[in-house]
Amino acid sequence: MMAVTDEKPWPDTIRAGECELHEPLVRRVLAPNPSPYTFTGTQTWIVGAGRDVAVIDPGPTGSGMSIGDPPDANGAGHVDAILRAVEGQRVAAILCTHTHRDHSPAATPLKAATGAPIIGCAPLALQDDGPRADSAFDPDYAPDRVLADGGRVAGDGWTLEAVATPGHTSNHLCFALVESGALFTGDHVMAWSTSVVSPPDGDMAAYMASLQKLYDRDDRVYYPAHGPAVTKPRQLVRGMLGHRRQRERQILRELEKGTAAIPLMVSHMYKGLDPRLTGAAGRSVLAHLLDLKARGLVRVREEGWELA
Ligand SMILES: [Zn+2]
Repeated sequence: MMAVTDEKPWPDTIRAGECELHEPLVRRVLAPNPSPYTFTGTQTWIVGAGRDVAVIDPGPTGSGMSIGDPPDANGAGHVDAILRAVEGQRVAAILCTHTHRDHSPAATPLKAATGAPIIGCAPLALQDDGPRADSAFDPDYAPDRVLADGGRVAGDGWTLEAVATPGHTSNHLCFALVESGALFTGDHVMAWSTSVVSPPDGDMAAYMASLQKLYDRDDRVYYPAHGPAVTKPRQLVRGMLGHRRQRERQILRELEKGTAAIPLMVSHMYKGLDPRLTGAAGRSVLAHLLDLKARGLVRVREEGWELA
């Protein structure tokens, strides 16, 4: 999720664990896992104002930042915060947009506390081998029901419809709130940053197709898993499509100049990048190169990448 340089920083107005109302059917609880990758932290979205609710992306256990984190560090506190927010309501469904460790692990303790089924994306078949500890997938994720594109789950006054959006991960889903025109976009589209596309599970061609899929929709507002709500969705998506095409042109120019190694391309292409995000930038460049290779435009040799 490299920071796009012209994005304004977003001072969060609430503290982790507090519940904030965004529209009549939508509340947000921020998890305590801020980082260069997660911005102010993972945002858990609660949908429903009546007898029952859905919880989208229950978040990490531990701090969600590394594999070895003790399971009860911050994660237990976040599950407690979700339970406080839904007091007096029944949790009808726990939904996950995808199974990165900052999104789905708390589904298991939340299910244990509420008895609600885990519904949503499929478990991941492919490990992400990127450099981000927090992007490692959650091997314990076990959905009770997997939603295909267009699949729905409904409760008291709300209906959520899955919108399959592979690319960031192969199993990524967005969820459309039919009653209000909101779309929960997970890590697929965020305003504060572009999405990391890390092969082999991350796939640039799929990601571009999933951006186009959102551009062709008519959603009123996006609620991403990280960063502020997006009130001009199609404008942002159009910008992201253009940004990726520009990255692709930059890579082709680097190859024309004879730059063969990904770290060198990153140092030329990403000016002012937070050094902690260099590895993630390299993964997205690799994703572009693999896409260009599949299209017959580049090839890889022992010395590195070159034009085909
Ligand atoms: Zn993710």
